[in-house]
Amino acid sequence: MTDTSPPIIFAPQRHEPLVDTFGRHISYLRVSVTDRCDFRCVYCMSEHMTFLPKRDLLTLEELDRVCSAFVDRGVRKLRITGGEPLVRRNIMWLFKSLSRHLDSGHLEELTLTTNGSQLGKYAADLAACGVRRVNVSIDSLDEQKFRTITRWGDLKVVMQGLDAAAKAGLKVKLNAVALKGVNEDEIETLVRFAHDRGADITFIEAMPMGDIGENRADQYLPLSIVRARLMNTFTLEDSPYRTGGPARYVTVRETGGRLGFITPMTHNFCESCNRVRLTCTGTLYMCLGQDDKADLREPLRAGVTDELLQQAIDQAIAAKPKGHDFIIDRRTSKPSVGRHMSVTGG
Ligand code: SAM
Ligand code: SF4
Repeated sequence: MTDTSPPIIFAPQRHEPLVDTFGRHISYLRVSVTDRCDFRCVYCMSEHMTFLPKRDLLTLEELDRVCSAFVDRGVRKLRITGGEPLVRRNIMWLFKSLSRHLDSGHLEELTLTTNGSQLGKYAADLAACGVRRVNVSIDSLDEQKFRTITRWGDLKVVMQGLDAAAKAGLKVKLNAVALKGVNEDEIETLVRFAHDRGADITFIEAMPMGDIGENRADQYLPLSIVRARLMNTFTLEDSPYRTGGPARYVTVRETGGRLGFITPMTHNFCESCNRVRLTCTGTLYMCLGQDDKADLREPLRAGVTDELLQQAIDQAIAAKPKGHDFIIDRRTSKPSVGRHMSVTGG
């Protein structure tokens, strides 16, 4: 007689979910897979950056193992970022490997933040790995200005990347850092451009992270000003839409599109923080705006199983700080945290 009962599947042991001492549930991991980049954006990096020696980086297999350990603890969303994530050699291997967690249903979303320079090459492969949404950073639609902001970037190539993403069926969200005296005259144009393409757009306040060789106060434009200016042209209607991130959204009645504001400087959003950030060397930062960190590389390499790694993750989450206190102070011009955004990946 043949057995027609369904096969018994033994699910791997799943550990306790991650909850910090303030009761915040950690369900989102951002992973900077490289600190390197093919751009040198003026608010992110100095012109002459010293990057980590390649030997200090976790291998792609190790990154996969750490990400999987977090998925095992109830992380539902993984964002791959950098530096520029798509310049890391063989990065598609990591996307392909992590896509198994989408297939199993343990992971809700696998996504990335990119400057778009390599999207023409990789958009179709990303879609094939189960990526549905990508964030693309574009701070200007003027070729000359785009080059000035990114120092090395070519807007035409990024535009081709956006087209490739659309063709591959990826939903795009645009990110733009609001920069005083640089792109403030383009804010409305950027909104119309995004919404004409069916993309959401989010503006970000420049954060004082890392030495960039210039005074941050010269760049910083509060989004309260951006919002007030947009209201001269558009009707902004509050939207309950959330992506699980810090952005607060409105709908622009005239375009029907969504517009987000990330305001770490003018509004602190820490009480609802659900995320932690892993660097490419295996350091876990528990807060974007604080120096609290935990080394996961040593416990990762010390054990054949993940028990030491899981213990280190527990200790790290227990030490997650309550929040950040970014200040841009014209007198000191010192960054609030010494590392660049490209280390922890935005
Ligand atoms: N290279 C990719 C990109 O540019 O999208 C991913 C990494 S980048 C560090 C992630 C995001 O952080 C980008 O949207 C970028 O504009 C933003 N960013 C970088 N430095 C920043 C800073 N000091 N303040 C605010 N946003 C920053
Ligand atoms: Fe590179 Fe992104 Fe930083 Fe620009 S913002 S330098 S693209 S990592």
